[in-house]
Formats: sequence, structure tokens, C-alpha cells
Amino acid sequence: MVDNYLFPARPQPTSAVVGSDSVFPVHRIFCVGRNYHAHAAEMGTSVDKATMRPFYFNKHPAHLLASGASIDYPPQTADYHHEVELVVAIGKPGFEVAEAATDDLIFGYAVGLDMTRRDLQAEAKKGGRPWDLAKDFEDAAVLSAITPKSQTGLITTANIELSVNGEIRQKSDVSKLIWNIAEIIADLSKFYHLQPGDLIYTGTPDGVGPVVAGDRLSGKIDGVGTIELSIKEPS
Ligand code: MN
Repeated sequence: MVDNYLFPARPQPTSAVVGSDSVFPVHRIFCVGRNYHAHAAEMGTSVDKATMRPFYFNKHPAHLLASGASIDYPPQTADYHHEVELVVAIGKPGFEVAEAATDDLIFGYAVGLDMTRRDLQAEAKKGGRPWDLAKDFEDAAVLSAITPKSQTGLITTANIELSVNGEIRQKSDVSKLIWNIAEIIADLSKFYHLQPGDLIYTGTPDGVGPVVAGDRLSGKIDGVGTIELSIKEPS
């Protein structure tokens, strides 16, 4: 225990685990960009797996928010979007992992919301600038409880959907991921020494769109879990 901090250190971010009193200490949050063809298309681009490689961005673990929260509409945006995603929770270390060996690294799965300031992302893209202000801000990584793989089995196909005020906005299947979970873990592990506590937001299907104060978001992935988020006017 360090006793010479100038001020109290921030608490370790954690996620609840379904069926357990233990919590999952979150280390890093990796996110995959453009990993469903229909979403790439709605963003005005396309992905050719034969010639392109996956790309990533990160969210700070301090920006993690548990499902069920009611949060303020964020500052400096007029186009705040939902992106529902399958999240993979890493439970074992791995570096340069072969695709066939990636299953062993998976602790479990969760439903995530990669909340996005879309107007700031468009500005960043136009200027060839980083996405941080668009993607990595307070409460921008919303997460359900993690369901252990021991309960779900390996997830390769599952209905994924997101409703706003009871109306379905996003609906797809995780089998439509361009780079599947094994490919993503293997690829990411070339660049990072993956560690227990790492989370991977695997990308969003099509149907992303804006939310406003007063909206209630509700998402689910069959066999994995559900996620809820309410947006309110900043007080
Ligand atoms: Mn996303």
C-alpha cells in the first residue's frame, strides 16, 4: 500500500460478473473500428478484408460506465451516437497468439455501448486527426455485466440489437463481424501483450444514430446479456 500519494488515487475500474460476487478488474479498453460491412457502408466507406487490416482505438478505463446509469448529454457535441457492440473480456495473458489458441484467452462476453461524438469524429477524419475527443470521453464506454464463457460457450453467432425508447435502431448478428473474435485477438496480440482485465469492443453493426436528453437506450445480445442507458439534460 502506497502511503505517500498527494491525493487519493482513483479506484480501480471494475465490471460486474454474472453469477458471481467477484468483479472483473478492467485493465485496458481496445475498440475495433469498422468491423461490419453494413456499418462501414452507412459511414460512407467500405472494407476489403483481402487488402485491409483491422484498426483499433482505445478508451481509458476511467471512462467505463456500468449498465443502468443515467448520464448527462456530453459536452461539445450536437451529434451523440449509440454503437452497440459485443465485448470480449480477456482472462489470460497472451502475446503473438495463434488464431486456434485465442479461445483460451477469453474469460467471457458482455454487451457494450461505444458512445460516440459523431460530429467530432467527422471533424477528426476530415483533418486526419486522432479520434480521441470523439471516442474517449467520460462515460463513453458503457458495459453490461460480463457473462463468463463457462456459461455462454464460445460466441460466434448471436442476435445483437439496440432500441431507443422501445424502437429498434440496430439489429444484426455477431456472425457478421468482418474480422471475427479469434482473428481480432490474434491480430491485437501482435501489437500488445494482452492481459487479464483487457476488454475488446468488437465493432458495431449498422443503424447507428443520434440520441438526445430524455432517451432511454436498451440493448441485448442473445445468450450474453442486456444493457441500459438513460440520457438526461446536464443539470
Ligand atoms: Mn464502435
